[in-house]
Amino acid sequence: MIKKSAIIIGGGVIGAFTAYQLLNKGWQVTIVDKGRFGEGCSEGNCGLIVPNHILPLNASGTLFKTIRGMLLKDAPLYVKPRIDLDLFKWFYRFSRNCGQRNVLASARGRHALLQSSFGLYPSIVEKEQLDCNWEMGGSLHVFRTAKEWRAYGAVDAVLRKFGIAAEKLNRDRLLHLEPGLSPDLVGGWHYNQTAHLWPERLLEALRRLLTKKGANIIEDAEATGFETHNGRAEGVRAGGKIIAGHAFVVAAGAWTPQLQQELGCRIPIQPGKGYALTTTRPLAAPSRPCFFEEKSVVATPWTDGFRLGGTMEFSGFDDSLNPKRLKALSNGAAQYMPGITAGAVEKEWCGFRPMTYDGLPIIDQSPRLKNVTIAAGHNMMGISMGPGTGKLVAEMINRETPHIDPRPYSLERFSRTGFEKTST
Ligand SMILES: Cc1cc2nc3c(=O)[nH]c(=O)nc-3n(C[C@H](O)[C@H](O)[C@H](O)COP(=O)(O)OP(=O)(O)OC[C@H]3O[C@@H](n4cnc5c(N)ncnc54)[C@H](O)[C@@H]3O)c2cc1C
Repeated sequence: MIKKSAIIIGGGVIGAFTAYQLLNKGWQVTIVDKGRFGEGCSEGNCGLIVPNHILPLNASGTLFKTIRGMLLKDAPLYVKPRIDLDLFKWFYRFSRNCGQRNVLASARGRHALLQSSFGLYPSIVEKEQLDCNWEMGGSLHVFRTAKEWRAYGAVDAVLRKFGIAAEKLNRDRLLHLEPGLSPDLVGGWHYNQTAHLWPERLLEALRRLLTKKGANIIEDAEATGFETHNGRAEGVRAGGKIIAGHAFVVAAGAWTPQLQQELGCRIPIQPGKGYALTTTRPLAAPSRPCFFEEKSVVATPWTDGFRLGGTMEFSGFDDSLNPKRLKALSNGAAQYMPGITAGAVEKEWCGFRPMTYDGLPIIDQSPRLKNVTIAAGHNMMGISMGPGTGKLVAEMINRETPHIDPRPYSLERFSRTGFEKTST
């Protein structure tokens, strides 16, 4: 019997988990990437699987912080001042999504995908023996100011309605859990249902696994459009060739809008640039991932390495490494944990998060080409949402009953809110 073939545009965590699920369902899979597999935003991020992060950025007074950040070049949130109509529209829509009703709607969609992924990860890691420093050790949100520590109680109250509980820690309890933290801190919140991994190693392991299962990975081949017939795609133009297939997935992360004309819909995704600094593991490293809240810096410890990550910069696809922003990561972290920056620097990195204005990914069929599925816009949660997304996309392509309700991730939501026409 001739196998059905799926072509996936984008070899990031979303493309990789989609490939994995399709291979398991008997599809023949080809992944095309404009660069190297696994070297987009999925490469150097913090590697946290955090099902408690159900609230989108809209929920956190981000707009005010962004406006303030425009004035400070080392602020965690920064918008490069420039004339960019798409960015302006994106922020306008972002601001319209800050109300409680919209935030809760996003939270419900995020919750479903995060729970699905958190449930799938351990079995995939174990069954496929993915060598990626997988650890289920919980995580800490750490505070320097009493005001912010107490204010987090409002987040906790919302999360509890979703069945996600944290332990509130006073300073003594916090220092008991992480003795290397500064005694100046006021307290924290502890989640035990979280995990972390080393993203580069995850992507390397997935590459080996997909190849072993028969996937074809084509690199340095930018997809520029589709060969079409009767409202369906027959092939994708990439790297000077036409790669034919029965089904297509666009998992091109922050670059997905570059194909929007071909897809027949607007894709409201902006690149949200983040930075990461990887060092050898310092003696003072925390034993579990920590969010240093007031400075928006994340620390991820691995047995043989350590990473600080953070910042959100809306500056287009400028991939230069700003030393001030890297310095802000280590200076910020050192205020919470003296000695945390003592490791030898191994890697300085930046990546582009695919940011939608409501914090939800897009997982839906192209309105123009019925056999093309879009799977992009995972914001700050692509590693956390990867397995669930892959499963949902494969179910949609294979015409199976989806394991979670796909409606929150539809393109239709953009037209429903009156902000976005879904056809160009
Ligand atoms: C500093 C930082 C820390 C983060 N920490 C976490 C974390 O702890 N946990 C978490 O869950 N998430 C985290 N994230 C977010 C996470 O990294 C992203 O959500 C995720 O990597 C997005 O995956 P993706 O597969 O959609 O995109 P990508 O990994 O960017 O992959 C897209 C791929 O598509 C390719 N591509 C694009 N256009 C084309 C084209 N036309 N033709 C062919 N190929 C194309 C690109 O080359 C790229 O390889 C973090 C991000 C940053 C920046």
